[in-house]
Amino acid sequence: MGQVCLLQQFCIFFLENKIKMRFLFRSSVVSIIFFLIFALVLSAQIKQDARPASPILGFTPPHAASEHELESEFQSIPSLDKAREWHRIFTAEPHPAASDRNNQIADLVAGEWRKQGWENVTLRRYDVLHSRPRSVSLETTAPVHFTASLREDAYEVDPDTKNPAVSGSYFGYSASGDVTAEVVYAHSGNPQDYDLLRKNGINVKGKIVLVRYSNPYSYRGFKALTAEREGAAALLIYSDPAEDGSTRGKVFPDGPWGPESHIQRGAITYDYIVPGDPTTPGWASVPGAKHIAPEEARSLPKIIALPLSWRDAKPLLENMNGPEAPKDWQGALPITYRFTGAVKVHVKVDMDTSRQLYTVVEACIRGSELPDEWVLLGNHRDAWAFGGVDPSSGTASMMELTRALGELKQHGIRPRRTVVVCSWDGEEYALTGSTEWGEQFADDLKKKLVAYLNVDESVAGAATTAGPEGLSFSPSAVASLAPMLVEASKDVRAPSGKSLYEAWRATTMRASKAGTPPLDGALVETRIGSGSDHTVFLNHLGRPVINLGFTGDYGVYHSMYDDHYWMAHIGDPSFEYHVALTRIWGLVALRLANADILPFDFGFNASALEQFLRELEQRSKIEPKRLSLKRLHARIAEFEKAGGLLRNVVARDLLSSPVSPKKFQRLNEELLQVESNWLDPDGIPGRPWFQHLLYSSRYTYAHLEFPGLTEAVEKQDWKLAGKQAALLEKAVEKNTRLLKSAQSSWEKNKQ
Ligand SMILES: [Zn+2]
Repeated sequence: MGQVCLLQQFCIFFLENKIKMRFLFRSSVVSIIFFLIFALVLSAQIKQDARPASPILGFTPPHAASEHELESEFQSIPSLDKAREWHRIFTAEPHPAASDRNNQIADLVAGEWRKQGWENVTLRRYDVLHSRPRSVSLETTAPVHFTASLREDAYEVDPDTKNPAVSGSYFGYSASGDVTAEVVYAHSGNPQDYDLLRKNGINVKGKIVLVRYSNPYSYRGFKALTAEREGAAALLIYSDPAEDGSTRGKVFPDGPWGPESHIQRGAITYDYIVPGDPTTPGWASVPGAKHIAPEEARSLPKIIALPLSWRDAKPLLENMNGPEAPKDWQGALPITYRFTGAVKVHVKVDMDTSRQLYTVVEACIRGSELPDEWVLLGNHRDAWAFGGVDPSSGTASMMELTRALGELKQHGIRPRRTVVVCSWDGEEYALTGSTEWGEQFADDLKKKLVAYLNVDESVAGAATTAGPEGLSFSPSAVASLAPMLVEASKDVRAPSGKSLYEAWRATTMRASKAGTPPLDGALVETRIGSGSDHTVFLNHLGRPVINLGFTGDYGVYHSMYDDHYWMAHIGDPSFEYHVALTRIWGLVALRLANADILPFDFGFNASALEQFLRELEQRSKIEPKRLSLKRLHARIAEFEKAGGLLRNVVARDLLSSPVSPKKFQRLNEELLQVESNWLDPDGIPGRPWFQHLLYSSRYTYAHLEFPGLTEAVEKQDWKLAGKQAALLEKAVEKNTRLLKSAQSSWEKNKQ
């Protein structure tokens, strides 16, 4: 049970079994026994409490003790049955952005938050360029005639799959058009795949390109930009069973993987250049805002594109008669995959690309002592279809979290800092709702936001196929917050019965196939890509972020089968993972909201930076005469030393001497400033919206550290690389100075 205290376990057990308990109480004999056990547990707990409470990073011992108490109360509130109920409500109907259902759910969330006791519940509207299909079709005209269904099959066991409101195949922001052309198979649709086609004398100009979703994975919006640059007339992306289908295991409705007709919808926006409403790049789409013409928008694709199930893609692949594709291009269909030959396709896509309203629901619980310091929680609401995993698993976890914090508030327990929660809209299109909201409140957020805690999918894996260690807990976080996240995981119980920390170590060990458990420092993924709502807060506003979620076998992403049936029968039938996620999310939020000293660890942060830099050097083999990174290594070493010293001095003083609130306040302001100093207002070369010097994402959505420097090195633009390295040196040096002066003023000032 890790460090979760006995009384807390008892409370959780009691609340989860309330109904059964009520029945038991009817027998007076049973109730006497029950109270005897209760008294025993309580006395054991009192004995335990005689020992000092385990410390918490950033808390004085008395505050750590009261924090543990409060956290126990918090953890006893979330319920499995309620999580299941929320999940059923949110997944009852398809709810893509701008649909009536998604707007109804916004009202529902707002109403529930009011009932739960949240304050300033507000619906923020954004007038954004949206994209939805009027009609789509695809047929082969040679050598055989075949019309693609572009639909997913219904299954008797899951009546939701018969819902006529589910859309067919489409990509958000595909261009409209009507083309007939020869098909070329381009493997994964990455630039090196087109290079190989060229080597084989095949040009895709004016052709229809057919690619697989992953192998290796890349964001579909990058495949679209690549196909557009290659001059293709249209792009088709299909799900090969090798990646998310029968090759991996049992398919829906018998297992977690995608069946033959499943379609991975999605947007193909170039939001790695600038996210949010494509016609308001860098400012908020509040009603009445200026919009640029769609033709000028850098993030809007100009290519026609459609997603296909493998069942619809198979006739295209199997009727080709050209040269055989290489071995690593072969998928799992029982055919020979060829580059091209004989297959002609007619694709017609007619999109309604017009302005629609998106709604962000926002609420807060005002902080009792530091109302102008905010801890922000968020999850997106819009889904391609029912959103069983993406995002309604996260929404169900969030609603249990807000219910629990609301209940604490009703008991008179307010966080010291303000906790803000948001239900985002249009994440699936271009991270739109969070981006517009972040741009609207940029000034406040830069000053007040302590951290943003994002949950997109809380349970993206099948507990039923996960084995004894359970699903993997797979959070990512800026390195400065990684140690506090690891610490919090020790106080939450995982569904396997171990502490979340122990479960996390076990699944990490399983994944790495190492014989020994990982070090604490290696548990949190500190490399953060894009593809969810944390992007604006980290990359544009320079605020620290954490992403939380469980992962495992999951092959129905963005398809109709990502629904309540999948979750309740295959993913998380007990809903224990949903509740575990609520608990860790809430604990991290409460610790950030209540800490005396914000638990940033810049010593650890620096060691992660050193690691990133070494990885860049190993990958790129930089000749010292072209670019020397010696000074940057030295600056990082100084930063590590300053961060470690400050951390140790503060930890020592928190234990020994009483510290005045003013002194806490001064240090917290300085710690928040460190995170802000990673922002460069000019942005990274070519992508000015992305302003963080340490973190960005690649066009594939993959993580990208030291983005300006790394991209310059990869282009072998040594002059630019030198400039970017100097920018980094300056920022690291500035932060080292800040930490040193923070330490000396901490030690000097008694008050
Ligand atoms: Zn999502």
